[in-house]
Amino acid sequence: MASNGEGNEPIKAIVIGAGLGGCACALALKHHGHDVVVYERLKGFRRLGDSLGLGENALKLLERWGGASLYRRLTGIGNQAADMQIRRWHDGKVLAQQPLMDMAGYIGHRGDYHEAFIQAVEDAGIEIRRGREVVSYDESKPSVVFADGTEETADIIIGADGIKSRARELVLGFEDAPKSSGYSCYRAYFPGKHLREIPLCREFVDHDCVNIWIGEDTHLIQNTLRDGDEFNWIVTRKLSHEADMEVKESWFQEGDMDEVKKSLQNLDPRIYAAVETTESCLDWKICYRDPLPTWISKSHKIALLGDSCHPHLPTSAQGASQATESAGVLAVCLKLAGKDNIPLATRCYEKLRFPRTRASQTNGEDLRDRWHNALKNVADGVEIDPESIKMRNRWLYAFDAEADTLEHWDEVSSLVAEELRTGKISPLC
Ligand SMILES: Cc1cc2nc3c(=O)[nH]c(=O)nc-3n(C[C@H](O)[C@H](O)[C@H](O)COP(=O)(O)OP(=O)(O)OC[C@H]3O[C@@H](n4cnc5c(N)ncnc54)[C@H](O)[C@@H]3O)c2cc1C
Repeated sequence: MASNGEGNEPIKAIVIGAGLGGCACALALKHHGHDVVVYERLKGFRRLGDSLGLGENALKLLERWGGASLYRRLTGIGNQAADMQIRRWHDGKVLAQQPLMDMAGYIGHRGDYHEAFIQAVEDAGIEIRRGREVVSYDESKPSVVFADGTEETADIIIGADGIKSRARELVLGFEDAPKSSGYSCYRAYFPGKHLREIPLCREFVDHDCVNIWIGEDTHLIQNTLRDGDEFNWIVTRKLSHEADMEVKESWFQEGDMDEVKKSLQNLDPRIYAAVETTESCLDWKICYRDPLPTWISKSHKIALLGDSCHPHLPTSAQGASQATESAGVLAVCLKLAGKDNIPLATRCYEKLRFPRTRASQTNGEDLRDRWHNALKNVADGVEIDPESIKMRNRWLYAFDAEADTLEHWDEVSSLVAEELRTGKISPLC
C-alpha cells in the first residue's frame, strides 16, 4: 500500500505508551504519512516478561512499515521449532501435534521483540520522549498533561498505555477495575543450559521446542528460545478458593515455588524435573475485563489501542498481534478520512476492529476450556480426537487489516457519517 500519496495534510498524532502496541501504532502512522510523537512514562526499558506470540497477521504489516530487515529480525527472535506437541498431563503421552505456525506464530521473548520495535520506531525517525508520564487529558483540544505540568496538543491522541490505562478511564468516564478470570498463572523464565545435564528433561532443551501438557482444569506450556539456551514454563490453573480470586494485576508479583511444586506433583516427571530446579517464578493472576462499549472519547479525538481496549488471555497468543492490526486500521482510517474528519476516522476504526478483536479474545477462552475439559472422565486407554484439542488460530493469520479497511471503508464510513450527523453513536456492545 502506498504511503502518503494522496495529498492529504499530515495529521499530528500523539501516542501514549511505547509498548509493542504504541510502537506499532507509531510505525503505521508514520508509514501512512502522519506526524507522530510517542510519550512513554518509563525512562528506560528492561527485558521484561517472557514468551509472546507474534503472528503473520502482524508480521506482514510490520514488514510493510519497517521493511524486510525488520521482518527478518522479528522472525529470527522466534522459536524455530516446526511443530508443537500437546501432551497428557501425568505421563506426557502426545495427544496431538500441529505446526507451530498454526498455533501462535513466532514465539519469542517479549523483551527482544520490544527492543526490535523500539529500534524500528527510531530508525523511522520517530521520536520517543521517555520519562514523560501523562497524568490527565483534555479531550476537547485534545491535549495531554504530563507529571511536570507541561501540556501537548495534537489532532488525535492514541492511548496505547496498557492494561492499567488512564486513557481508558477518560474514554469510559469511570475506572474499569479488573476482574479475576478465575485462573492463575505461574511463569518462570531462565537459562536452560543446566537442564541439559538432567537426563529426564534434556529433550526439552537440546533444540528449540514447544510442548503443552493438558490436564483437568490445568495446562502447562513449555518452550525454549535461542535454540534451547533459554527456557520458559507457564502453568495455568483454575482457582478453587474465593480468597485466591483477589485481583492483584501485576507482571511482577513473586510466586511461591514450594506451593507450585506441591501442586504439580502429578505432572509428567520429565517436565516436573525442570520445574523442580526452578528457583523463582511470577504469580500472575489472569485478569479479565468486560468488552468496552466504546474505545473513543466523547470528542472522538482520543482513541484507545492495544491492551488498553482489547487485552487477550495468554491462550489467544494474539495480544501484540491484534494491537498491531489495530495500528494499521487506525492509520488507514485517518488517511482516508483526512485531517478535517478525525471523528469519522476514529469511529470507523472502533467499528472495524471490535468484532475481530472479540473473536480473537474468545478464541483464547475456547482453547483454554477445550484443554481443561478434554481429559475429564477419560481413562488412560481411551483415545481422544486430536482435532478437539488443537489450536484454531490459523484463520487469524491470513488477514490483512489494512486491505480489509480499504475494502470496507465505503460501507462503514457512510454508517458512521450518519451516526455522527444524528449524534447517535451506537455502542460497540
Ligand atoms: C511488564 C510486562 C510484561 C509482559 N509480559 C508478557 C509476556 O510475557 N507474554 C505476553 O504474551 N504478553 C506480555 N505482556 C503483554 C503484552 O506486552 C501486550 O499484550 C502487548 O504487547 C500489547 O501491549 P500494549 O502496547 O497495548 O501495552 P503495554 O505493553 O502494557 O505497554 C504500555 C506502555 O504504556 C506506558 N504507559 C502506561 N501509562 C502511561 C502514562 N500514563 N504515560 C505514559 N506512558 C504510559 C507503559 O510504561 C508501557 O510502556 C506484558 C506486558 C507488560 C507491561
